[in-house]
Order: sequence, then structure tokens, then C-alpha cells
Amino acid sequence: MSPIELNKRQEEILRIVKGNGPITGEQIADRLHLTRATLRPDLAILTMAGFLDARPRVGYFYSGKKPGQDISDTMNNMKVKDFQSIPVVVREDVSVYDAISQMFLDDVGTLFVVDKNSYLTGVLSRKDLLRTSLGSQNLGAIPVHIIMTRMPNITFCTKNDSLIQAAHRLINQQIDALPVVEEQPDGFKVVGRLTKTNITRAFLSLSESHEL
Ligand code: ADP
Repeated sequence: MSPIELNKRQEEILRIVKGNGPITGEQIADRLHLTRATLRPDLAILTMAGFLDARPRVGYFYSGKKPGQDISDTMNNMKVKDFQSIPVVVREDVSVYDAISQMFLDDVGTLFVVDKNSYLTGVLSRKDLLRTSLGSQNLGAIPVHIIMTRMPNITFCTKNDSLIQAAHRLINQQIDALPVVEEQPDGFKVVGRLTKTNITRAFLSLSESHEL
């Protein structure tokens, strides 16, 4: 096991928890003037690498023990919920033109499509929209449900899936993003977006918390 090298923010979190634990994620975020969501990957890494312990409804405390996990244990414990991004969704009846605008506005490469009850019905990638733009003059008149990849052919994940499982799906299906969904009696609600960028970010956090 190589010595662990933490990034500056992770060092700061450890210092705060050592001095103030048990302390909740929100309280740590407040002290660092960051959002809880920004901190989530760092807290996940510190917990998985054995620096911190987390108890539900109590918070984080410094475990004091030397990090004993090796990198494969840390990787297996990385969950989608710790690295996912906010989803960008559009309704089935919006036009291809508006979907392209939305993609630029929100700076994402994949849009998720939902019906009027907010259940997942489809996915739109950059190339889906480009293909339609090449072949058609009036993008304002074509609703996205005509060109999207639709259920049940959508590959998705849930927030408690491991990041490794999600990465396998991205590679096996040759796609850039998975909707993170919650199953409900009548369909799937979209609660997040898991992209190749999230996997790359997780890869970097690993290299920062294990000296690589
Ligand atoms: P791009 O086409 O911009 O390279 P992708 O590789 O993600 O982006 O998409 C390739 C095709 O797969 C597109 O037709 C898209 O609709 C579809 N697709 C994208 N994400 C998913 C998904 N999670 N499940 C099923 N199909 C998807």
C-alpha cells in the first residue's frame, strides 16, 4: 500500500472533521463556502480510503486509523450517487431546434426526454440532433420524440449502483451518458446524469487519494 496523497480540499476537510467531528456534510460545506454536492466526491473518497467514518444522522468523524484499503476496494465502493451530475431533461413535444438550444444553454452532450408525468421516455445525443439538422430544413417543426432513442431501449443506472457497473454499461453500449433513475410504479423518474466525464473525475480523485 503506497502512502496516500490528498488534494488541498481533502486536507482541509480532514482538518475540519478532526477539530469538529462529528460534523455533517452540510456543516463542512458551509465552512468551506462550497455546496454539499461539490464536496460529495471528496467525502466519498476520504470515507472509502478509511480516513473518515460516517454515521447516518450523526455525521462524519475522524477515524484515526491508518487507511488500510487498497485501491481496488476503494474503486468497488465508489457509487454513482457520489459522482453523478444534474440531469437536463426536455419534454417529448419540444422541437429539435429547442433541444439544440437547450444543449448549448446547459452545456451538456446528452438530453433526457420525459413525458408529461416526468417519466423517462427517451434520450437525445449530439449526433441524433446533428443527423436531423443535416436532413431537414425546419427544425422548429420536428418534435424530439420522432428522433430520440426510446424506452425500452434506454440503458440506465440507479444511484446505488457502483461506478464500475455504470462504466461497463457506458463502454458496452458505446454511449456517453446514462440517466440515473428511480423506479416508480408507473415508470422511471430521472434523478441524475452519469457521463464519461464523471467517470474521468472519479478516476482523478482516485489518483489524488492514492498516491499514483
Ligand atoms: P453521440 O451520438 O453524440 O456520439 P452517444 O454515443 O451517447 O452520443 O449516442 C449514440 C446513440 O445512442 C444515439 O443515437 C443516442 O440516442 C443513443 N443513446 C445515448 N445514450 C443512451 C442511453 N443511455 N441508452 C440508450 N441509448 C442511448
